[in-house]
Amino acid sequence: MKRNILLPDTHPLTWRNRKDKKPVWIDEYRNKNGYVSLEKIFYENFSPEYIINLIKNSGLKGRGGAGFLTGLKWSLLNNVNDDKQRYLICNADEMEPGTYKDRFLMERIPHLLIEGIIISAFALQVSIAYIFLRGEYFKSENFLNRSITEAYENNYLGKNILNSNFTLNLYVHSGAGRYICGEETALINSLEGNRPNPRLKPPFPASIGLWGQPTCVNNVETLCNIPAIILYGNDWYNNLSDGENSAGTKLMGFSGQVNNPGIWELPFGITARELLEDYAQGMRKGFILKSWQPGGASTDFLLEKHLDVKMDFDSIKKIGSRLGTALCMAVDSNINMVALVLNIEEFFSRESCGLCTPCRSGLPWIVNILKNIYKQNGKLKDIQYLEDLCITLGPGKTVCALAPGAIEPLQSALKYFRHEFEQLIQNK
Ligand code: SF4
Repeated sequence: MKRNILLPDTHPLTWRNRKDKKPVWIDEYRNKNGYVSLEKIFYENFSPEYIINLIKNSGLKGRGGAGFLTGLKWSLLNNVNDDKQRYLICNADEMEPGTYKDRFLMERIPHLLIEGIIISAFALQVSIAYIFLRGEYFKSENFLNRSITEAYENNYLGKNILNSNFTLNLYVHSGAGRYICGEETALINSLEGNRPNPRLKPPFPASIGLWGQPTCVNNVETLCNIPAIILYGNDWYNNLSDGENSAGTKLMGFSGQVNNPGIWELPFGITARELLEDYAQGMRKGFILKSWQPGGASTDFLLEKHLDVKMDFDSIKKIGSRLGTALCMAVDSNINMVALVLNIEEFFSRESCGLCTPCRSGLPWIVNILKNIYKQNGKLKDIQYLEDLCITLGPGKTVCALAPGAIEPLQSALKYFRHEFEQLIQNK
């Protein structure tokens, strides 16, 4: 039965969330237009091709960090031989330090993700889908499993969904807690029960993915955008954003020594300064902003003078960093940059899968040099070694993007805060 459609909102991801921060279960979700988009595609006979074109034209970009066009990614899968079993995997292996936006969605509005997965699976003609979940997200796992059970009980999952010919089974798979599993081919290897090394590309998962079959991997937040685009259309989605080449809204946040650390759904194009001043309510008393990262530990540091940049993929790239996950981290003037970068590089070194030499050997080498500098045992030529390693581990030198991501904080710290390295070396 069709239900009344509420007016489009400015917060398609979060408008249903409860003030008491408890999850929205199925009855409340349905009362707030939940599963109306899924009903729409069946009652109005949307074809998979129509949905893929709709998502392509909406301009929705992947929210996992890379910002690849979702509709384009889907169409790659649809070019593959039709007879093959296909898979959809929701990448919920959220381990980027400082980032918790996917957890926020899964623990507050799990049915939005499930509805997004079902519509996406229909568009991709997939009958089996997985949510690959970060191992430590126990609460998310419980909430997702309860919500999946509710969805089966209401004929949103399983055989002949809403009396259509479409069947989908959805499973939650918890990882063992490794950062590299967020890389889509490492995730596929892990799901198959193998060591999570990334795979050489090509072939891409769209042609040879899970168990050798065509596979699409999409991030949690990306999939949560799908129901609203189906319901309200492309123009509405495009008009939500004021950013360059960016459509819709984005979960953004600020952490560090700010007055109100948190996460908010905001249109692309809001400035980082607005995010810091209006939403995070500025730096705490006694703390001065020295630097900030726009989207996780693997993004280049920026300065206070960059705060007027628009928060979107292209604008942040133009000033030498990446939007990443859009969960900003404030670095205050009490923090020594060598100590901070050492902490970050220790993390990435530990999480390297060890498959390729520059990353396996280069990251521990970087850690050792940084340790020596921090202990005031460094030499000036160590800075040159660090700069050389930034080139050795740069884009295109390794199998996956872990190593190039790992050196972004280091190269930007050397660019903007070289004097802090030199001061420690000169025992000042
Ligand atoms: Fe593994 Fe690092 Fe190579 Fe990626 S870059 S495949 S994490 S060794």
